[in-house]
Amino acid sequence: MLTAPLPSQIDIRKLVVKGAEISANPPISSLPRIEDLLAEGDSGKDSEIAVKLEFYIDDERKRRVDGKITGTVNMTCQRCLEPMPVPIDVQFELGIVWSEEDAERLPKTLEPLIVGEELVDLADIVSEELILSLPYVNYHPAADCKQDVGYSSVDPEAAEAVAKADADNEKDNPFHVLEQLKFDK
Ligand SMILES: [Zn+2]
Repeated sequence: MLTAPLPSQIDIRKLVVKGAEISANPPISSLPRIEDLLAEGDSGKDSEIAVKLEFYIDDERKRRVDGKITGTVNMTCQRCLEPMPVPIDVQFELGIVWSEEDAERLPKTLEPLIVGEELVDLADIVSEELILSLPYVNYHPAADCKQDVGYSSVDPEAAEAVAKADADNEKDNPFHVLEQLKFDK
């Protein structure tokens, strides 16, 4: 894949006025803070992402950036500690605003992107969205994992870590809360 870093130090409002569209395959190493999250030693060489950004003014005169990130990144399986591919398919809708105050006036469907007079690096924006979307913990499917799945349930420390990770994952699940309510009765 042909890769090139995303444009840096741009006037984002100019891109909006122009109605610009940017499609790129940025190298992982050009995205701040992403490499640290990937499988150790991979340094992004087996990870590939494609980015599409659309800059425009919408019907309500809001300055918008709609984005899509797709591809695969290599993360570490928390059970066997071997790398595993994690598919990426993220979409986001940003509303460009000058201040926190303006941000509060945005419709809930838009994520505020607060930009003052300064120029911005698109890699920062993409990196931020990618980090938000990456799963906190990853496991191979049981059949593919180098670590015998049964083993982790008898190793108290590993079992505890897995249970905690599962609990973290389920925190936001409303059904889980219902289950607990039933259980409490
Ligand atoms: Zn594994």
